Amino acid sequence: MRDPNDPCLFCVPRDVTRRNALAYATRDSYPVSPGHTLILPLRHCPDFFDLSAQEIAACMELLAKERKAPSPR
Ligand SMILES: [Zn+2]
Repeated sequence: MRDPNDPCLFCVPRDVTRRNALAYATRDSYPVSPGHTLILPLRHCPDFFDLSAQEIAACMELLAKERKAPSPR
């Protein structure tokens, strides 16, 4: 049986709604609310606290922009 984490699903960006040099945003496949969005680093990193300061800044930039984006209907 195929391992869904090899390769890591999040390391293969798809349906990207916004990106920058170090991170990308995509809608969650199983949204718990309209516009449920994932903000992910482009480098594989299993733990938020292992991200560099630059990667955290890149994620926060996308988070702020996606927050202002209109929710999809
Ligand atoms: Zn990954």
